[in-house]
Amino acid sequence: MIRLERVRLGYDGRLVLRDLELEIAPGEVFGLVGPNGSGKTTLLRAISGRLSPHAGAIYLDLRRLSELSSRELARELAMLEQEISCSFDFTVREIVELGRLPHRARWQRLSRQDHEIVTRALWLTDTLPFADRSIQRLSSGERQRVWLALALAQEPKVLLLDEPTAHLDFNYQIEIMELVCSLAQEQNLTVLVSLHDLNWALHYTDRVALLSEGRVIALGEPERVLTEKLIEQVFRVRVRIVDGTGERYIVPLFGDLSPNPSPKVGGGFPLPVPGRGPGG
Ligand code: ADP
Repeated sequence: MIRLERVRLGYDGRLVLRDLELEIAPGEVFGLVGPNGSGKTTLLRAISGRLSPHAGAIYLDLRRLSELSSRELARELAMLEQEISCSFDFTVREIVELGRLPHRARWQRLSRQDHEIVTRALWLTDTLPFADRSIQRLSSGERQRVWLALALAQEPKVLLLDEPTAHLDFNYQIEIMELVCSLAQEQNLTVLVSLHDLNWALHYTDRVALLSEGRVIALGEPERVLTEKLIEQVFRVRVRIVDGTGERYIVPLFGDLSPNPSPKVGGGFPLPVPGRGPGG
């Protein structure tokens, strides 16, 4: 479904990710994890067609992404970005209806089937109760669910989610991850999701790619990739992986940062020693 061949990505000549070789199967829930700035959003942008690779090729169903028109791409793939600004005073329903644009001719009215698809997307994301309210009058968590409804109304084959659980209450974080996993299973939706919380990756993804220092440094089932040793190495924090109620959890050992092997500030700043004030 999605294949990356020797892909290099970056901005203005600055390389962010190199030597990317990935294959993601239809119906797979594929996680991207890695420290801030490791390139998760950059990779999602490239797969969404919003960022052209410096080198290499990205294929969607055997077709090169660069050969697809934006309309064709919007029928195949939807992306839920981290921060979406919207200055229009549209209602929630009007926003979600935009998801049907790639599926109909210009100026063509929404069909009955389009309306059903929109209502279903509103219902699945629990945004139906405020469908007639202005998008401007929603909380950031409610708005996040509206953007997901818009993405679902597109009826894509591939759904790209950039930190979808940010801004959401715990219950909606779980609901959204359960929803996309069930769509992957029942409708063969391919899901690529960047997650900063490793526990979500451990619990919900089929496979993960761990990004660090410009490369994929580990790829595979989350239990195999997200080990105590690798997490400590990449995130510089000591963790324990514990079993509880049949599930595995990654628990950080608070305050137990491992030493940074390459401090950015030459030598670092000396930390004050407790109990030793000036002259003490
Ligand atoms: P992540 O999603 O893992 O936090 P990003 O993909 O957002 O990482 O960023 C990877 C690197 O690319 C960072 O060094 C970031 O500063 C840089 N970057 C991200 N977006 C842009 C941009 N639009 N222009 C220039 N550099 C960018």
